[in-house]
Amino acid sequence: MAVPIQPPSPPASGTTSPKQQHAQPWITTPLKESAALSKAAGCRIFLKLENLQPSGSFKSRGIGHYILRRLAALPPSTRPHIFSSSGGNAGLAAVHASTALGLPATVCVPLSTKPLMISKLHAAGALDVVAHGAAWAEADAHLREVIIKEHEAKGGVAIYTPPFDHPDIWTGNSTVVKEVAAQMQESGDGAPDVLICSVGGGGLLNGVMEGLDSLDLSSSVDVLAVETAGAESLAASMSAGSLISLPKITSQATSLGAVRVASKAFEYATREGSRVRSFVLPDAEAAMGCWRLADDERLMVELACGVNVALCYDGRLEKALGRKVRPEEKVVVVLCGGSNVTAEMLHQWREEFGWIEKGMPETGGKVPSEVVKPVV
Ligand SMILES: *Cc1c(COP(=O)(O)O)cnc(C)c1O
Repeated sequence: MAVPIQPPSPPASGTTSPKQQHAQPWITTPLKESAALSKAAGCRIFLKLENLQPSGSFKSRGIGHYILRRLAALPPSTRPHIFSSSGGNAGLAAVHASTALGLPATVCVPLSTKPLMISKLHAAGALDVVAHGAAWAEADAHLREVIIKEHEAKGGVAIYTPPFDHPDIWTGNSTVVKEVAAQMQESGDGAPDVLICSVGGGGLLNGVMEGLDSLDLSSSVDVLAVETAGAESLAASMSAGSLISLPKITSQATSLGAVRVASKAFEYATREGSRVRSFVLPDAEAAMGCWRLADDERLMVELACGVNVALCYDGRLEKALGRKVRPEEKVVVVLCGGSNVTAEMLHQWREEFGWIEKGMPETGGKVPSEVVKPVV
């Protein structure tokens, strides 16, 4: 008997309005307690899997929310064009959000942007990827002063998306903490004791602090704000006692490569009663965090994220906290994710930085990544 085939459903809307103006361009991500990382760290490690966001990083939250706010301020029938000047995860988040909302996106990236990231921007559905200028500042200026101006001159409506320094981005990022709190409540685990996140321009840290403030948790949760050496713009400002800019970025963790953090991030870190602790690790240890996470949890993340994971190994957590950790303590790692990683890069990082594991305390084979590490 022939089964009638359902006719395809009609398109969601006409051609003048966006496909789903109010679709949320990020997802609720799982919070996973990691047995292997907990063994390595000596306390309970929870991974907030932001690597599973549509764009591959938590930036889907902040940039997604920022775009929704701009859309809400426009007349309903406008079909704006989204513009970003990031060849990194912020650009990917802008493109993923645009396609989810049925809007076109153009990204202008510096000429130094890797083919891997350009191909990811295209795969995500970017209408156009323009390479211009030696560094981000030049790509950004070209986007604002040439590409967006041309678009507007033709009567088009443009939404420019910054990478981190905007309150709407922080509010979007704050949803990660609200989710963690709800998930831990749900599982009967109460509130976290420690939150670990990395800091580039401070958009994620600002979101984390906004979330903790709104839940009345910022006076009881320790926040480890982690950077790589050569991108330590928060650490440098904190030790200078005022907001300063780094002369240049020398870390390979380019997603953390903001020479100056948002002033709000400095404020959160230094305000009265702040429980934010800044911690800096070299690229080698960030890379180690990436390959050990791959071996222990089968997850691939870039250096900007691996730097958080590195804290779970070889006693680094106690060093960062400046105190002992208790076995029942609950530590949440915001596994921010990032698309600047491939199997080959993980392999090369271990070739280049594998020495970092020499002479480290062994756990007697309790942690998988220790058992499978190559003999050097
Ligand atoms: C952007 C980014 C960061 C840093 O976030 P900021 O908001 O700039 O501080 C960290 N990790 C990953 C994977 C990122 O994409």
